[in-house]
Amino acid sequence: MWSFETDEDYQEQLAWVDAFVRTEVEPVDHLIEHAWDVRDPLRNRLVRPLQEQVRERGLWACHLGPELGGPGYGQLKLALLNEILGRSHSAPVVFGCHAPDSGNAEILAHYGTPELKRRYLDPLLANEIVSCYSMTEPTGGSDPTAFVTRAELDGDDWVINGEKWFSSHASFASFYITMAVTDPDAERHGRASMFVVPADTPGITIVRDVGVWGHDEDEGHHAYVRYEDVRIPRDHLLGERGQGFAVAQTRLGGGRIHHAMRTVGLVRASLDMMLERAVSRRSGTGTLADRQLVQELIADSWIQLEQFRLLVLQTAWKIDRYQDYRKVIADISAVKAAMPKVLLDVAGRAIQIHGSLGISTEMPFGKWVLESFHMGLADGATELHKMAVAKQLLKGAQPAPGLFPTGHLIAAKDAARARFAAELDAAVLSS
Ligand SMILES: Cc1cc2nc3c(=O)[nH]c(=O)nc-3n(C[C@H](O)[C@H](O)[C@H](O)COP(=O)(O)OP(=O)(O)OC[C@H]3O[C@@H](n4cnc5c(N)ncnc54)[C@H](O)[C@@H]3O)c2cc1C
Repeated sequence: MWSFETDEDYQEQLAWVDAFVRTEVEPVDHLIEHAWDVRDPLRNRLVRPLQEQVRERGLWACHLGPELGGPGYGQLKLALLNEILGRSHSAPVVFGCHAPDSGNAEILAHYGTPELKRRYLDPLLANEIVSCYSMTEPTGGSDPTAFVTRAELDGDDWVINGEKWFSSHASFASFYITMAVTDPDAERHGRASMFVVPADTPGITIVRDVGVWGHDEDEGHHAYVRYEDVRIPRDHLLGERGQGFAVAQTRLGGGRIHHAMRTVGLVRASLDMMLERAVSRRSGTGTLADRQLVQELIADSWIQLEQFRLLVLQTAWKIDRYQDYRKVIADISAVKAAMPKVLLDVAGRAIQIHGSLGISTEMPFGKWVLESFHMGLADGATELHKMAVAKQLLKGAQPAPGLFPTGHLIAAKDAARARFAAELDAAVLSS
């Protein structure tokens, strides 16, 4: 049975979230640039009371099951919630479902020792601390064989040496989830392992905090991190030795679809603003909305948004149904590959319809256009995801048995004629 309806109780929750985000959370976006930064006293003063309201409403950390203190809504309900949160950059933090902490919590919950969970998972889930995911290296992001950061066993300790690049939030995180090569001679995906590295371990240096265009902050938040003889206890290894990529998948499956859910919100915000402008701005005797080429920009944007949203919702539904990310590899990669283009196209059209105002720093579209490039890189470049989709589809493809494809029209016609020879003969005789 197919249904596109939301049950009444949940719809009520969503209506509360929508009003709360618009009236309480979106204003905070204009006062703080980085809702993640738990060091910022203004952030704490503004964000913490809002988090309390979300908790009271039972909507804290909706991506988590009850065993970790969330309501266990599943991905489909989460999608409907996240597409509201996506309008505001502070909202995911206010609702306790923000990356990279959400994914890092999933890794810790799966693979951490009870002591690591007590020390890091509990305060992370309460957003008392934040975490960092430290995988990409200056030598390579897309190609894991290019990773050179090493972890070697020395007695009861692992000793890590190397450099990581774009380790977001490292400068204020309490711990890092770090990938390092432990078995350089193993097969490609068996070389690396994953570790919990406490941020105050001697030997960690933030070389610099790299900034990205589109953010107002003076200093960036994507750290270039150096690890020099960083010594951590043996039990800080997450999962099996050499299984770093399998551990990484624990966070990436969920992380990618959650970004996509939020992107629906950002794209819808671009479209809403486009519609308002079209009916407001005078053009000749009417408004921009009367111009057919403007209507095309609007129609194309809505079509792209709805196609994308349905793909996201269907993928979320499949995750809930199969409970196995391996069965939705193509779906998640498809969503991840589609996401930057939909945002780029729709935010780009919003700029065009708003004219000089659209491109100015007085409107948010320029930031969102740049955000689309972040989305095309973080959690894997678009090209790799397109390749992953194609590979999954090609797995089920069979070569044609003969010289011509099975859809060849001449062969199909011959087969139809052979099958209905008696009917064709009877038709000829009776004519
Ligand atoms: C905002 C932001 C936040 C991030 N946060 C984190 C973080 O917290 N932790 C972390 O570890 N990393 C993080 N990253 C890094 C991100 O994971 C990498 O940028 C990504 O994996 C790509 O790696 P790269 O930048 O080294 O690009 P490269 O691997 O150098 O690739 C550059 C380009 O080459 C092309 N390309 C590469 N390989 C192929 C291929 N096989 N086939 C076809 N084309 C290809 C693609 O166009 C790709 O965009 C973040 C990135 C961004 C933008």
